[in-house]
This record gives sequence, C-alpha cells and structure tokens, in this order.
Amino acid sequence: MESTKLKWEKPSDEQVIAKKVIGLNIKSEPAEEDTEDVPNLADTSLLQKIIRNGLVDSKRDIEVQRRDPNSPLYSVKTFEALHLKPNLLKGVYAMGFNAPSKIQETALPTLLADPPQNMIAQSQSGTGKTAAFVLAMLSRIDTAKPYPQVLCMSPTYELAIQTGEVAAKMAKFCPEIKMKFAVRGEDLPKNTKITDHIIIGTPGKMLDWGMKYRMFDMTKICVFVLDEADVMIARQGHQDQCIRIHKTLPKTCQMMFFSATYDAKVMEFAEIIVPNPIIIRLLREEESLDNIKQFYVKCRGQEEKYHAICNIYGVITIGQAIIFCHTRKTASWLSEKMSKDGHSVAVLSGDLDVEQRIAVLDRFRAGQEKVLITTNVLARGIDVEQVTLVVNFDMPMDTEKQADCETYLHRIGRTGRFGKSGIAINLVDSPQAMNICQAIEQHFGKKIVILDTEDAEEIEKIGA
Ligand code: ADP
Repeated sequence: MESTKLKWEKPSDEQVIAKKVIGLNIKSEPAEEDTEDVPNLADTSLLQKIIRNGLVDSKRDIEVQRRDPNSPLYSVKTFEALHLKPNLLKGVYAMGFNAPSKIQETALPTLLADPPQNMIAQSQSGTGKTAAFVLAMLSRIDTAKPYPQVLCMSPTYELAIQTGEVAAKMAKFCPEIKMKFAVRGEDLPKNTKITDHIIIGTPGKMLDWGMKYRMFDMTKICVFVLDEADVMIARQGHQDQCIRIHKTLPKTCQMMFFSATYDAKVMEFAEIIVPNPIIIRLLREEESLDNIKQFYVKCRGQEEKYHAICNIYGVITIGQAIIFCHTRKTASWLSEKMSKDGHSVAVLSGDLDVEQRIAVLDRFRAGQEKVLITTNVLARGIDVEQVTLVVNFDMPMDTEKQADCETYLHRIGRTGRFGKSGIAINLVDSPQAMNICQAIEQHFGKKIVILDTEDAEEIEKIGA
C-alpha cells in the first residue's frame, strides 16, 4: 500500500493509477459518423499529459502583469535558489529536473514567497505548470498539523490522478506528507475527519467533503489551487462549484490559478477566484505564425480538394503532413482515397479512446505513417515536430459557423517549429469558407496567398 512512501488511502500504487488513468472511462461519447467531431478538452489535456516525455521548450519571453506594486518579482535559474526543504529538493532532482522551466523560473519564487502571493499563470500545456504548483503545495504544508491545508481542484478524475502522481513522485523523500484524492469512487463514512495535509480532487466531491459533510475545516485551508481552469469552465457546473468552495476559504488563503489558455471567459473566472494576483503568461511560439507560409486553393467540392492535395504531393517532397477535416465521414473518405493511391495514412478521430489515440500518434511520430488525417480532436497542442505540411481540408469554424481563429492557430502552429519553415494550405470550396479564410487572414495580420495547384511551377515555389 505504501510503495510511493506516501500515505494514499486508495488508489495507492502508481502503476495501478496509471492503468486506471489509461483504462477508465475516458472513451468519448459515440457520435454520428458525419457529425462534427468536437474536441473534448479534458480528454485532450489528459492525452497530452500521458504522451508527453519532457518539457515543451519555449524561446518566448514571459509577460508579467503585476498587480501588487509592493511585491518584488524576481526569477531563479536553479532549484537551490528557492531554498526548498532538502527532501523536496531531492525529490525534484530524482524526477530528473535539473533547472526550472521558463514558467517555473518566474512562478516559483512568487508562489513560495512570504507573505504568500496570489498568482494567475497561463502557458501552454507541457511547460511545467503542474510541477510548479505541486512544488508550491508541498512546500507550504506544515506536517505537524494533522488536517487539510491545501486544496487542489482538477476538472476530472483522471486529471486529478495525474496531479496526484506528480505530487507522489516529488514527495518521494517526504513520507510524512499525506494526501487524499477527493474523486468519484472515494467514499468516506459521513463522520470522518480528514487528517491528510493535501486534498486533490474534483469540485463536486470537494464540496461534499468540505461543505456538506464537514470532513475538514475550510477555514484552515492556506493554499487553493485551481488547475486547468479552461477545461474546468468547459464542464457543466464545475465553475459554480469552484466559486462556492472558494467563498468559504479564509481571506489569507493563497490562490493559485492555472490555465493553458487565457481568453475572456478564463479571465473573468480568474478575477473571481484570485484577488490581487500577479499574472504571468508565456506566449506561445506559434502565436506569431512567422515561420509558416500560408496558402489557399479554390476548389469546387470534395473531389477537387482531393485533387489539389494529389497535385501538391506530385510536385514537392513532403515530410509528414496533417490533414484536418470537419467530420469523421470526410476523414474516412479521404483516408480511403489516399490509401488507395499508395499513401501511408493514419486516421485519428474522436471515436478512438485515449489509449488508441496514443497508439496512432506514437506510430505517426515514429514515422510509420506519413499522413495523419484527423478531425478537431487534435486541434490542441500535440507536438509532432517533423510535420512540414498542414492542410485544412475544411476551414475551422465555431458553432456559429464563424472563423475559429484559435483552432486555426493550434492546427497550423504545429508546422514550422524550431525555426524550420512550414506550409499551411487551406482548401476553400464555398463563399462561406472564403469568408472564414479572409477573417483568419485579418485576425493574424498575415497574408494567406492564393495557390493554383494546377500549375506545377507555382507548387514548386512553395516547397523552396
Ligand atoms: P503543464 O502542467 O504545463 O502541462 P507539466 O508540469 O506537466 O506541464 O510538465 C510537462 C513535462 O515536463 C512533464 O513530463 C514534467 O515531468 C516535465 N518537467 C516539468 N518541469 C520540468 C523541469 N524543470 N525540468 C525537466 N522536466 C520538467
């Protein structure tokens, strides 16, 4: 039961947890074949966490918006400079972390400062946010006090378990630290008094334990972490539950708010949860679209779109490509056609569970297939470095059928990484698609140039 040296009630064994994470309940809802494949933010986030094997590097700078003029903001280049408890530092090194990531450099001194500082931090997935707040959580507790002092809110069971795993690893040399999962399946007798120092869980269970059954004292909580805020607000009722919990916390409680994106809705939520915050944001590499040559091709219908792709393949050499379609039906139609023409094609769509998606992506990353056809399930940050061409077989649009610029950015942002230049091709087959293309062009202030795919010389130029 105590393989992690931490006192987990249940589940306790990391491998079991990992299996649970992969195997449990993370199948997407079955959808009609030709309906739009809507990405599930929680699934995507989980998938990214499971598949990732290191930090996402960013050459971009941190943008700091500081609210509290009395607090100095400084950054550290080493973990030693943070003056962590020796056993925590040992845990950090045992995880193979040599130096703080970009977001950690700035976030950690503030998160660990005395008096405590509130923080809103935004950076894309994989930049080290979880490790940062877990380290802060573990540093803040006083193990001499046998009651919950830290609450960490995650949007789903699986994401909570992921965070718990990181905490267990980091606290490997601190067996005195106790944690509990407040997630579905964890049932405690009603009159239980929780003695663990940290509770990691989902809003509903946290509300039950803290407010309904009073298994711990909300007024003794000194750190409140809200992770994956953007995923949280996408889930029905979660935002309200977080706000209800938040209301019962003491004024002195340190608030830490993390999100991979920071749009108006997330900002609004953050304002409610975090008074006087220091706001740090790490802009995404691809936010500038500088390394990407963007084109559009006028087509009349699906067949012509397919023909355009064939022409491009006929003229220039392409490393790996990702093609985005609106529906699963189009994706499978296209994959059949391309396979018949001798391309090695993989398909990734929302009907696959997380495990199957990982398998598809692993094969693609290993170069076993050259073309990946997908629906929006992949729109957010899965890094496949070697992709040189992204094709929007269908333009990205939101539920009101307007240009979805955020998704466009996520799609084409995966080409042209690490200084290499990438190509993005938009296949436009209707006035509506043309409008979307123009709206995207305006939004990013970057030209999307017309390409005649019947003209081999023109195609040759784009490959140069
Ligand atoms: P996020 O929460 O932003 O998605 P994570 O904290 O999960 O990012 O970190 C992403 C990956 O990078 C994880 O595999 C994690 O173990 C690793 N990582 C985090 N911080 C560091 C670091 N300072 N040095 C090396 N690897 C790190």
